[in-house]
Order: sequence, then C-alpha cells, then structure tokens
Amino acid sequence: MTNRISHWIEGKTWSGVADRGGDVFDPATGEVRARVDFAGVQEVMEAVAAARRALPAWRNTSLAARGRVLFAFRELLAARKHELARIVSSEHGKVESDAAGEVARAVENVEFACGAPQLLKGGFSENASTGVDVYSLAQPLGVVGVISPFNFPAMVPLWFVPNAIACGNTVVLKPSEKDPSAANFIAALFAEAGLPDGVLNVLHGDKVAVDGLLEHPDVKAISFVGSTPIARYVYETGTRHGKRVQALGGAKNHMVVLPDADLDLAADAAVSAGFGSAGERCMAVSVVVAVDPVGDELVAKIAERISKLKVGAGADPESEMGPLVTAAHRAKVESYVDAGLAAGAELVVDGREVRTVSGEPGGFWLGPTLFDRVSPDMSIYTDEIFGPVLSVLRSATYDDALSVVNANPYGNGTAIFTNDGGASRRFQHEVEVGMVGVNVPIPVPVGYYSFGGWKDSLFGDSHAYGPEGFHFFTRTKVVTSRWLDPSHGGVNLGFPRNT
Ligand code: NAD
Repeated sequence: MTNRISHWIEGKTWSGVADRGGDVFDPATGEVRARVDFAGVQEVMEAVAAARRALPAWRNTSLAARGRVLFAFRELLAARKHELARIVSSEHGKVESDAAGEVARAVENVEFACGAPQLLKGGFSENASTGVDVYSLAQPLGVVGVISPFNFPAMVPLWFVPNAIACGNTVVLKPSEKDPSAANFIAALFAEAGLPDGVLNVLHGDKVAVDGLLEHPDVKAISFVGSTPIARYVYETGTRHGKRVQALGGAKNHMVVLPDADLDLAADAAVSAGFGSAGERCMAVSVVVAVDPVGDELVAKIAERISKLKVGAGADPESEMGPLVTAAHRAKVESYVDAGLAAGAELVVDGREVRTVSGEPGGFWLGPTLFDRVSPDMSIYTDEIFGPVLSVLRSATYDDALSVVNANPYGNGTAIFTNDGGASRRFQHEVEVGMVGVNVPIPVPVGYYSFGGWKDSLFGDSHAYGPEGFHFFTRTKVVTSRWLDPSHGGVNLGFPRNT
C-alpha cells in the first residue's frame, strides 16, 4: 500500500479524508513512494484556526520558556540530522552529503533564534521630557504563513519557523508538494521539544492551500520562497489582502572570472556551484562570465572536471550529483539543451547522454551539461533553467562583464574570481545583486546575517532569517509614559513637545 503523507494540525496528523492529493516520487527510480494530501479550503480553515487558538498562550509564554523549546529543538535536530538528510535525499534526489549540508545550515538558523531574548530587547529613554520615559516593544504579528519550495525542504522552512515562533507568532507551514516529508519530521521534532500544539502546523497542498493562506484574514504575514512568477503573485495577492509579505524568487547567478584569477580554483568553484544539487539551488552558478583571455583555458578545465563527476542515487555515498526532482522537470531542463543548440551555442558536454544510472532507467537522470559561447539573447541565458546546465559567456573586459550581470533582471547571488583586491572591491560596490562572493561561489550568508536577493529575486523589503527575519516577524510599539509626581499639573492644548 502506498504511504500516505498528511497535514499536521494542532500537534497531530490530520485524520480527515482528502479530496485531492499528489504523487511523491523517488527520483532515483522514478517510482511513486507516497501520496500526499492536498488541502482544500476547509483544511486551510482548520490549520489557521488551530494556529489562532494557540496564539494567546504562546504570545504570553515567557522568553525563557520559548527559548527552552528552541534549545531543545536544536539538540534534537542536531542529534537526528542524518535521518532528516536521508528523508530530504529520498524525495528530492540530492545526494545525502548535500542534504546534510542543508540540515547543517538549518541548525545555524535555529541557533540564531535561540538568541531571541537579546534580539527582542527594545530601547528605553529615561526623561525624554521631564518625568516622561519612552520605550519600544517588539511584539509578534499573530498567525503567519510560510510557503516553501521543493529544493530545500528542510532548510527553507527553518529559515523562517524558528524566528517566527521565537518572536511569539504561531505558524502554518505549506511545504512543496514534491517533497513534503521533511516538514512533518520538523513539526514532530518541535512537538518533542515541547512546542505547544497549534504553534506550528503543516498544511500540504498546492495553489488552493497557498491562496487560502493569502486570503485568510487571520493570517498576518507570509514568508514565501519559490520561482519568480509565483513570488510576484504571492507578493501582490498577499499585500492586496493587507498582509506583510516577503517573497523570495528565482535567480540567474553569474560567476565572473577575471584574467588574473586562479583558474583551477575558479573551475573547481564553477563545477561545484553549477552542478551541486543538480543545479537545483537558487544560489547555483548558472553562468560563468569569462573575461578575455581566460575563456578557452577555463572551459577546458571545467569540462575536464565534469568528466570525472559521479552521477548516482542520493543514497549512494559515492554519488556526487543525483537525479532531478521529477520527470516533468527533467523534460523541461532537457528542452533548454535543445534550445541552446538551436540558438547556436557550443555544446561542450551533453548531459542528455546520461540516461541509465545505477541500473535505474526510470530515474529522472540528466548529466552535467556545459555550453560555451552563449549570448545574452539565448533562452539558456535569459531563463532560470534550475538544472545541471552551465553556460559560459565570453566578455572582453571587466566593464562588459559587469554590464551583463547588472542587465540581468535577477539579482540573487554572484561571485567574482580574482586576485586583485581593488577589482573585487569595485565589483562588490558596483554590482546590483544582493549576495556577493569574492573567490567564494555560493555566498549564502551565515545565520546571523540575512539572506535575500535584489530585483526579481525578492519582492518585499525584508530579507530572510537573521536580524531582518526578526524585524519581519515583529511589529514595534512605542510607549510614552509618565508616572505622576508632585510636579505634574496644568492643562496644555499644544502638541506634546520637549520644552
Ligand atoms: P514554485 O514557485 O513552483 O513553488 C514554490 C511554492 O509555491 C510551493 O510550495 C508550491 O506548492 C507553490 N506554488 C506553485 N505554484 C503555485 C501557484 N500557481 N499558485 C500558488 N502557489 C504555487 O518553486 P519550486 O519549483 O518549488 O522551487 C524552485 C524555485 O524556487 C526556483 O525558481 C528557485 O530559484 C526558487 N528558490 C529561491 C530561493 C531564494 O532564496 N530566492 C531559494 C530556494 C528556491
């Protein structure tokens, strides 16, 4: 019998009967490993109502008690990280070592949230006016929705959930329907850590669940991560319904290689950042901009490294790159290889030749693919492919390379490879991208900074996690108070001011 994955509402698995559902695959074999329930309007109502019921008590729970839950969760997560990594790998397809990296970054965010009491401290001004004190409070928003993509089923929910609950909010998490099990594992672990029922609920499903959260009047804020068209839709719909929204979208990340760079380092980085997680990362490098004259040598070095990559099942410790998440996604990525060829790009390595891996013809395999002499008008350059397809563009000068990066509508991550400190300093100043690496290909900020791109890679004005995460999940209140003393008195109709 096929395994069933359902919602987690008010501290337990939902026991109703779902009208709709979806298949969850093992990407390495192509077999259906489970069915996941899709929420209808009624289930959205149930999950939000549970979060609403849990809010008053959780909001009034002391910082110390909230902190103890987060510390306990951190310990449980660290102790069971391999189990979670295996769950991620089995539904997403990424290799287990990569999934373990995802979980490790998630632990960082939990550790940051453990510092909530320090981060929620307000300001206090004694005697702002004679006998008058002014202070600020950071209070939770209420019920918040978190909607996450398939590519980081553990890390992205944990970009938001720890901070949201540390701030005193209650949460409805809507994970991707493609790999839903990590969210349930996380919710059960939070329950084990002592999180009261209803503070974190998991609602599975598709657009119906997302729209339900976007329109529900009791949901006060939405943190979304996914593709740019959906991020834009979520931002516009959520804000129209009066919610605070941060919506992180897609990416096309460029790695600029200057003539003085260490080309072995750059080639290692291009292959790691281009093909790790089969390119299904919002911080993947999908474009290498080679500044003359390094193009030929760099392409040769990248191709040589690709030839040694081991594609295989995520559970095989020898594998370096797993399959794509679904057959439909593989077909879409493959169609870009055809489009690149038709547009005249030079196909240096053709990943379509990788078909049967580990004796599994049904797996969603596509090998690493390298295009050279790509131009900015080709669809392999303009579109986010989100697969193992790396494009190399040639640029005559640093200025040309910078113009290419800045003309791109996305602005998530970028990296420069050079040994010239002045050039790198100029790049970090001039480039219109939210996260910049210098000789670092995937500059994902550590948990005590915040994560977010510019332009079409983020809608809203708060980045995810870190200090901006705390800012997003709270609203401030300023109190002006006077305690009577013998010097008070007198009517004054003027606007309050300092005299
Ligand atoms: P997606 O946009 O298809 O789905 C994201 C979420 O939105 C899922 O929970 C999905 O169920 C829901 N959704 C899908 N279609 C919807 C619709 N029509 N209406 C309402 N909700 C809908 O993204 P994905 O394929 O799961 O993830 C990959 C994308 O996410 C890539 O574009 C990647 O760059 C992006 N991403 C961005 C970041 C970032 O931080 N900027 C991080 C990870 C992934």
